[in-house]
This record gives sequence, C-alpha cells and structure tokens, in this order.
Amino acid sequence: MAKKQLNFETLCLHGGYNSYDHNNAGSVPIYQSSAYTYDNAEHAADLFALNDFGYIYSRINNPTQGILENRIALLEKGKASLALSSGHAAEHIALTNILEKGDNIVSSSHLYGGTYNLFKVTFKKIGIESRFFHPDNLDEIDGLIDEKTKAIYVETIGNPSLSIVDFDELSKKAEKYNIPLVVDNTFATPYLFNPIDFGASIVVHSMTKYIGGHGTSIGGVIVDSGNYDWGKTDKYPGITKESEGYHGLCFYDRFGPDSKFDNISFIVKARVEGLRDYGSCISPFNAFLFLQGLETLSLRMEKHSSNALALAGYLEKHSKVINVNYPGLKSSKYFDRAKKYFPKGASGMFTFELDGGRENGKRFIENVKVALHETNLGDSRTIVTHPSSTTHQQMSDEEQIECGVGQSLIRVSVGLENVEDLKEDFDQAIDKAFL
Ligand code: PLP
Repeated sequence: MAKKQLNFETLCLHGGYNSYDHNNAGSVPIYQSSAYTYDNAEHAADLFALNDFGYIYSRINNPTQGILENRIALLEKGKASLALSSGHAAEHIALTNILEKGDNIVSSSHLYGGTYNLFKVTFKKIGIESRFFHPDNLDEIDGLIDEKTKAIYVETIGNPSLSIVDFDELSKKAEKYNIPLVVDNTFATPYLFNPIDFGASIVVHSMTKYIGGHGTSIGGVIVDSGNYDWGKTDKYPGITKESEGYHGLCFYDRFGPDSKFDNISFIVKARVEGLRDYGSCISPFNAFLFLQGLETLSLRMEKHSSNALALAGYLEKHSKVINVNYPGLKSSKYFDRAKKYFPKGASGMFTFELDGGRENGKRFIENVKVALHETNLGDSRTIVTHPSSTTHQQMSDEEQIECGVGQSLIRVSVGLENVEDLKEDFDQAIDKAFL
C-alpha cells in the first residue's frame, strides 16, 4: 500500500511500518540490540561506505528508531528524518550540521530559554554567533543577514510568549536570501501545522512534549524537507565538498538532488557525522514510546486545543486575572494568524498573570491540586510553570523581557482532564493566592 497517500490519523497508526517485515508483529517491536550482524565482510564494508543502507550499531541507527523516523517524516511531509535523545540534541545537530566557526544564525528572540542559552552562550564558545530579531518585526532580519548567515530559526509558537510569526513573509525572506529556514514545531506538532508547507527547509521537534504526550520520555527529531538545494551556493562545504569526517565522501554528490536519493544529503550527514560524533542517540525503548504517543496525537491535540480555549476563556473573565494570552482567543494579537495557520486548533499552551504580581503567582502555583507544578509541557496532565524562575532563569531581566517572559507570568500546558475540574482547581488556587 502506498502509505504516502494515507491521511494524517492513519499515518499516525501505520506510517512507515509493515508487520510482514518484522515477524508479523502487529505492534512495532522494540529492537533492544546494540549492534547488528553482517551477512558477510563485503556487506559490512558496504554499510560503512554508505553503499547500502542497513543497521550497524544503535548509536547511529536502530530499527525501532527507523520506523519512528519514517513515520515522523511522513507526518511532517519531509523526505527523511533523524530521531535523537532530546529536543536540544535535535537543535544542536541540525545547526552544527551546516554552521562552522565564524558563521552565524539569525533567530527569533522568542525561544524556549534553553534554546536561547544554547544559541547565545554555548554556540558562542564554538565560534558560532546568534543574531536575534523580534518575531513581530521581520524587517529586522534584513539588517542581520550577511554572507556568513547559514540559517534562519524560529519556533512555530514562541515559548512562552506564544507569538506566531507571519510565515508567508518569513518564507519570502528565506527565499530572497536563499537561506534555509529551520522551524521548531514542538508547540504545534505536525497535526496542527506543517512548517514545510510554509517554506521551512528543516523542522525540529522536542518529542518530549506533545509527540510523546504522556510525560514519560525525552527525545527530539530533525526532519529534512529535501527542498533546499545545498549546492546552489558554496556556503555549505560540509555537504557539497569532500568530507574530512567521512573519508572524502561528498554527501551532495551521493545523496543530493541529482542522485537516486533525491536530496537527502543534509539528513544523511546529520546522522553519519553529527550523531555518530556527538553520540546523542535515542534509546529503542523511547523510540517505541514516541510511536505510542503518535498513535493518539490527532485526538490529543484536538482536546488540548479545545480545553485550552475553554480554560483560557474562563480565566479571561475572572476578576483576579489581569491578562490571558492564548492565540486562540479573540483578544490575542496573534488570533488572525492562529486562525490562518492552525485552523484545527491553537494547541494547549497559554499564559496568564494574576493581580498582585509575582508573589500571588507563586502562591497560585503552590496551591493547584489537579494541575502539576512542573517544568514540562505537552503532557496529558495539566502543568503550571513559572518561566521567569525556571525555564528562562538564566537570562537577564532585559533578555527575559525580549523573550516575552514577564516576572509574574504563569505558563499553563493544558492537559486532557475534564475542563470543569480544571476551572474548579484554578478557582480554588486563585482564592488561596489572595488569602
Ligand atoms: N524546543 C522547545 C519549544 C521546548 O519547549 C523545549 C523544551 O522545553 C525544547 C525545544 C528542548 O527539548 P528537550 O527538553 O526535549 O531537550
């Protein structure tokens, strides 16, 4: 059956897997094996030389991981993908795959705090500069790009500002300068949004969140659209020239647009050099858990979105709440973009502030009973977080403001509970905050 023709929900259950290739196992098996036997010495040499695709050693690939990668690539409408040990590993390997010392990225400033730190501090230590623009002012990009800019980076929905960029304008910029657009699609998931349809060349995810969906495992993934021609300029020698790290192989010649593989050179390099050298592999068990999560992704994202809309709308009318920020609410300045880009729902994340500032926010968080006080999101259970003192703590006050993190801001990842229980829980915690 041509799986590519199937609809999203069906791909979530069947995409990239054929039971007859796996001892007729109806559910995807966990291949808990570190290494794989070769047919003969020539087979081993062919695998190492990438003349043949197969399994060598589970730091580089594993059959359970491979099924997850095929499924995610289908769901994100990409050519191929690479699953990794965390969302951060996905960002790191995606970018160091194309950036070298002396290069720069131009990134939205509205990022998850850990990503901001990776770009601003850790990348600087390896000679990569990060230049930030405000996602509401895409014209800032023109003043930041130079001949050393190798990628433009945004989050589909900024964490935690919940900003949504104008993807039509952003993709025009990426096209104008012929720079690949890298999009972190963690908050939207491929069910609500496919960045590749809106000009992304590369998509990354923290699978830890909605893809896993049950707060059990850390993982990330990179998706290669196969749409970017790395050979159009001489800016990506790691892909288009002979590779020192892979005994002289030219990834572009072997896997580029003129090869039988139809332009997967980026993702092959990310696996056989990036993952091989940095070693941030996903465990087969976690790959299995992400496959379990994907099976219900569409149902969960609908419920996360409808619960978030109901709870955010309820809080908006609460006398002690001074503001609520949810792109699915008419009061949000991103409402029109949310409607345009995410017609199926605006995901499960919103933020709000209580009258009385940071102290009351703290008391609210300490008094929720159904919701969990954690630093995570995308779980089936509702989670409340105080970004200023946790996820974005490493930033200066100015940087927090630049990222859209107010001191009294409370971030809510709305789960799958009955929303009436959540309203009641929030009501009682707000009451206690004002005692
Ligand atoms: N991207 C976003 C939008 C996130 O919120 C996070 C973590 O919170 C990450 C990436 C990093 O993912 P991980 O924690 O799986 O490394």
